[in-house]
Amino acid sequence: MITRDELRGRAQTVLGVVDPAVLGSTLMHEHLLWNICPPSRRDGPPGPDFSLESNWEMCWSQIVAPHNLIQKDVPIAVEAVAEAVSAGCSTIVELSIGGLEPDPVGLQQVSRETGCHIVMGCGHYVEEYQDPANHARSVDSFAAEMVAQVQEGLWGTDVRAGLLGEIGCQSPWTELERRVMAGAIIAQQHTGAALTIHPGRRQDQPQEVMDFCREHGADCSRVIMDHIDRTISDEDALFRLADTGCVLEWDLFGQESSLYAHNLEQDMPNDAGRLRDIRKLIQRGHLHQIVISHDICHRAHMTRFGGWGYAHIHKRVLPLMRRRGFTEAEIRAILVDTPRRMLTFV
Ligand SMILES: [Zn+2]
Repeated sequence: MITRDELRGRAQTVLGVVDPAVLGSTLMHEHLLWNICPPSRRDGPPGPDFSLESNWEMCWSQIVAPHNLIQKDVPIAVEAVAEAVSAGCSTIVELSIGGLEPDPVGLQQVSRETGCHIVMGCGHYVEEYQDPANHARSVDSFAAEMVAQVQEGLWGTDVRAGLLGEIGCQSPWTELERRVMAGAIIAQQHTGAALTIHPGRRQDQPQEVMDFCREHGADCSRVIMDHIDRTISDEDALFRLADTGCVLEWDLFGQESSLYAHNLEQDMPNDAGRLRDIRKLIQRGHLHQIVISHDICHRAHMTRFGGWGYAHIHKRVLPLMRRRGFTEAEIRAILVDTPRRMLTFV
């Protein structure tokens, strides 16, 4: 058990409390040990195996193979994280939470073997993935669970969460998901942790969530809105969201196909397009509200299976940023300063 006073001004990794100054260059939204296969398909056939011939089709979602959606192997995670560390990454935020088969003890091992700081999220993903028993639970029950996950331990272990989320929302936003979100806001108020949010796949859904956060007394400056790249292409919607004070997260770097299989109405930008949108926000004065990541949750996206891997931002996006005129101060704000501010308990 750790108290709010003991956490204030500190960050909390899977190995314990640290001085936020040590966090360094941080990927704010990844999965290292996860199962994102929809529960209804978990007992089905595993689908075709990985091959050089199939990787691109898997990345274009033309082959749907459940085993592409599951990565529970610690040595594979160690190898993947070590690659990111040698490219300059120092901290990874791991958001496999309720519904995605989180493995806190496995993440401790990954952290020990790679030297990478790993910060875990907590709470519950979208309704489809949640334990059916959650339907009967109250806002206060979810709040108490998340407070305990930050202050005592996660999923039956003594490993503690370092932030709340990625709290799952859909469009339309379900009643159960709203209850979990209301609980997360109470947990934010009780713990001083940041809150990171997986919004529904509709252009104005992040705004709907931020209105809810404000009405329920959240500290909006300590809310991170994830997956901007697959959700918002309209500039007015982007600026309106930034005006709520939240941090905006472009966390699908590396996905350079224009297809977004979960919403065929929305074109996925490539990395250059992401950087152009980020530049628009910086020009409007929002430099300190931007973070980036890869949100790797398909094995086909990992280097060992033919993908870009967790080192992509450090190896390939940073050089692209420099070629496109991003200053070292801007890069530092996005990769170091804003993640450190969000991971520091208040
Ligand atoms: Zn995620």
